[in-house]
Amino acid sequence: MTGIRPNLLACGALSLSLSIAVASHTVGQEATLSPTPNDSPTALKIAKISSDIEVLVEVQQGELPVILSAPHGGTMQIEGVEPRSGAGMKTGPSGFFTGRDGGTTELAVAIADAIQRRTGKRPYLVVSKVHRKYLDPNRPASIAYEDSDAAPVYQRYHGSLQRFCAEILEKHRTGLLLDIHGQGASQTTLYRGTGNGKTVTRLRERFGESAHSGEDSLFGVLHRLGWEVHPYPADGKEQSGFTGGYIVQTHGSHRPEGIDAIQLEFGADYRDKSNRPKTADVLAAAVQEFLDTYVASKFLPASVDGSSEPRN
Ligand SMILES: [Zn+2]
Repeated sequence: MTGIRPNLLACGALSLSLSIAVASHTVGQEATLSPTPNDSPTALKIAKISSDIEVLVEVQQGELPVILSAPHGGTMQIEGVEPRSGAGMKTGPSGFFTGRDGGTTELAVAIADAIQRRTGKRPYLVVSKVHRKYLDPNRPASIAYEDSDAAPVYQRYHGSLQRFCAEILEKHRTGLLLDIHGQGASQTTLYRGTGNGKTVTRLRERFGESAHSGEDSLFGVLHRLGWEVHPYPADGKEQSGFTGGYIVQTHGSHRPEGIDAIQLEFGADYRDKSNRPKTADVLAAAVQEFLDTYVASKFLPASVDGSSEPRN
């Protein structure tokens, strides 16, 4: 990504000065916020180890054209794999970084549950249970892991996303991938990352720019529901450092095999254990509205090749 500001700690940026500032007191900073404040520190000290890729990456089949991805909330170690050293690698939002996005594993599951309660159907879910020290699914393979024993875990993450995108495109012709993260720059803000519209190319082409940045866009609805979102107004530039990482860049709809993909960078308040049910419910309401507006077949224009066979 370009235009990275090193002082903004997203899912990647790291500087010594910031680490020190974070360590002092800030709750939301990803560098030291392992859990959100209400998580039990004791539980986190019990590091679980597994060599079972089905345990290390939780994958759930869905029924809705929605995928939830959470790559950075894990706590587990891959058996036999040492923490990554990052030797010789650049740091920053697209480089080497090992801090967890505390609370995002639990939040992703809560969102899936909330969507299912609202719609009666479950979204697809891909969640890394592995601590980012060992594996970073939101990076290209060359940065994501250093031990080849971690490769199958990485491949399960991206292979699942790829398979689910294909399945959704076949069944629904369109869909939404939400990549769930945590940031420490503002505990009350949700940042949007789409490469300034790039990873939702199909949505914009089909429904116009307002589908991405208008009042009825996902972020427009979240703002209406009371959230502090950035950019706002939503047609503004996305915050440097939060513009969307490898997952949305790989599986977004600027690629024929991808679907509309948005990286969500939650501040600590949204991820805090006591707030997660509310966060999940509000996001589920916005997702439901997104589906009704942009995905329900009655609203879908014919595909670009002119075919108009019904889909469901
Ligand atoms: Zn992250």
